Amino acid sequence: MKRLLIVGFDGLDSLLLKRFIDDLPTFKKFFDDGAISHIQAVHPALTPVCWTSLYTGSTPARHGITGWHFGRVAKDAMFTLDDSKVSTIWDIMTKAGLSVGAVHMPMTYPATAVKGYMVSGVPTPWTNPKGTRITPKKAYYTKNAQRIYHRMVYPQGIRDMATEYPVDLSDLLIESADYEKNEPERILETIISRRLDLVESLERDIQTDVLAVGFMMIDRLYHFVLQPAPPKKETEAVLHRWYVRADQMLATLMERYPAENTVIMSDHGGGWKRKKNGKPAVWHTKHATFGGIGKDFAGGWQHRKRWLMCVAPTILKVLGVDCELWKRMSGKVATEMLRKG
Ligand SMILES: [Zn+2]
Repeated sequence: MKRLLIVGFDGLDSLLLKRFIDDLPTFKKFFDDGAISHIQAVHPALTPVCWTSLYTGSTPARHGITGWHFGRVAKDAMFTLDDSKVSTIWDIMTKAGLSVGAVHMPMTYPATAVKGYMVSGVPTPWTNPKGTRITPKKAYYTKNAQRIYHRMVYPQGIRDMATEYPVDLSDLLIESADYEKNEPERILETIISRRLDLVESLERDIQTDVLAVGFMMIDRLYHFVLQPAPPKKETEAVLHRWYVRADQMLATLMERYPAENTVIMSDHGGGWKRKKNGKPAVWHTKHATFGGIGKDFAGGWQHRKRWLMCVAPTILKVLGVDCELWKRMSGKVATEMLRKG
């Protein structure tokens, strides 16, 4: 049995999750038998900034990752997890002797040298098996092309296998000149089933104490499927459909990889809104989610003032990693989510 299973859902909104909960039997277990909490995203509520806060238990001011790019424009070099000024849970778990398997968790490029394996998630320069194309942030990739290609995975022995699996929707969308015909939702489905296959093959060869799997699909609805946003009812129907899908995937992972504790987390939320110019849009909200179920979690639904930074210390506490590093983090252990004693 694993010590911990971590499932990361980029953009999983705590309030939408609560609204749809009666149709989400797996998430509902966290409400009924575990603990689940609204956690406030940091500012700016962008994927690289927020995930780094989740992994480090630190505010952006401390970890230093403040956006997608060092500068203000897309041609500036992108931040990577290497730029974090403080240790991540991956470093700390590895130092504590735990073996870690991590697949496509967002903002894990370049892959950490864990005891186990890591395949980086978004943003990662994914090259398809023919080697013909990489994701479109050209400056970043051409500047570091060689270095990047070799650091998407750890250890190098899994590179050929792991790089056959797509990381992000945009990797596949740009394969076709005709965006419309690409049916983003169908592609998201392909990515999910292939990702589960990849995890299965890796886990067959390398047993790990901690397994972490990340999914971008909910966030990708906000940016690719619901732009411009259809009327509110239609938007909610699409979101509902994919929250149900997320619930099924979570059930699959929990069944395949039984663990003492299972944790779910997201970096920010997302929802329908009308912009100042009157146009409908779906954009990030500050409503991120953190939940746990298993040996150590209890307390049901909690909506209190909590930030992303509570996640790293709580995870390390549950793993029994007694480490000076996490005691100095900006966030504190979410003790109300844990069983007493
Ligand atoms: Zn995100």
